[in-house]
Amino acid sequence: MLDSKTQDLTAVLDRIRPAVRSQKPYHVGGIQDPPVKLNQNESPFDLPEDLKREIVDGFLAVPFNRYPKEQPDRLAEEFASLVGWMPGGVLVGNGSNDLTYTLGLALIEKGTPVVMPRPMFALYTTVVRLHEGDLIEIPSRKDHSFDADAILRAVREHAPALTVLATPNNPTGLAMSFGEIESIVDAASGFVLVDEAYADFIEAPGGITLLERYPNVIVLRTLSKAWGLAGLRLGFMLARPEVIAEILKARLPFMVDALAEQTALALLQRPEMLAERARQMKESCAVLTRALQNMDEIEVIPSKTNFVLFRTSVEPSKLMNRLAESGVLVRNMAGYPELHGFLRVNAGTEIENNTFLVALQNSLPDRD
Ligand code: PMP
Repeated sequence: MLDSKTQDLTAVLDRIRPAVRSQKPYHVGGIQDPPVKLNQNESPFDLPEDLKREIVDGFLAVPFNRYPKEQPDRLAEEFASLVGWMPGGVLVGNGSNDLTYTLGLALIEKGTPVVMPRPMFALYTTVVRLHEGDLIEIPSRKDHSFDADAILRAVREHAPALTVLATPNNPTGLAMSFGEIESIVDAASGFVLVDEAYADFIEAPGGITLLERYPNVIVLRTLSKAWGLAGLRLGFMLARPEVIAEILKARLPFMVDALAEQTALALLQRPEMLAERARQMKESCAVLTRALQNMDEIEVIPSKTNFVLFRTSVEPSKLMNRLAESGVLVRNMAGYPELHGFLRVNAGTEIENNTFLVALQNSLPDRD
């Protein structure tokens, strides 16, 4: 037993805000270091070794004793020219989740109305709850697609400070049409965050076009998916420069480290490689989806991303365990009540996909 001084541990813990204490810690779950890891919508492609060496060599010249710039301006400029937006309208973050936290600080306080569809990438719910915002969740349609009309009605009724649209969405993989997004943006007096984490997998992500027309739009992008940099933590936010200038005030400086910055700058020099990898991931997801659709008694929700949801007759945690015995890790969607029974698998390499499909086939009832 640790020797406590006079303070009572319970009394000390009670000093932590209830909005924090009532949260569950974020936990991905599943087996450690699986041979086939298809549970976090990552890219299956690491960077080529020669490129990694080049980046690490460049890193030797970085003085470790010096702070990086408060904000990585050069990177912001490069992202701006990549997407055709103003450099002053770009905020770079330690992953896009970091920027979501900043946005929460900037916009949400006790009782602030926030509208978002369900099911939604869980971090958004967490951030609203941490700030004690008033979360207004709009259920999806029966086919799991966004109910854009209901979102629109909620936006008109509640005049939220923030509406969150992740499109294509995680966990469903389904996207909203440009017209639907625009009608919501048009009706909203508050901000509309368009999280385009999976933008590289769709034809024409519309967020940037909307930014040009509406000052209440904020677009979020990540380098964790198609760019394959989940381990380095990079994402960026786009908005009108005046909006970014205000959000910046809620932001910690030095959030992007020099290695992440150099790596992104090196990748920005290789747009063909990035495009080719995104194409391969999309193709891999299409192949995986078709294979699942061809299996008996599996319900599949075809997606616009690099992952797909599916449901079998086997209880999901049991199926996860069976797949894990074959070294394959997928994600159980049990945390989302409307996705009860579904598992999520992201597209891997051809070998990884095949290993998963064989393991799945072997895990289904007629093999019992
Ligand atoms: N938004 C969505 C919709 C996501 O699915 C994810 C990752 N799962 C993120 C944001 C987080 O990305 P990052 O790694 O940049 O924090």
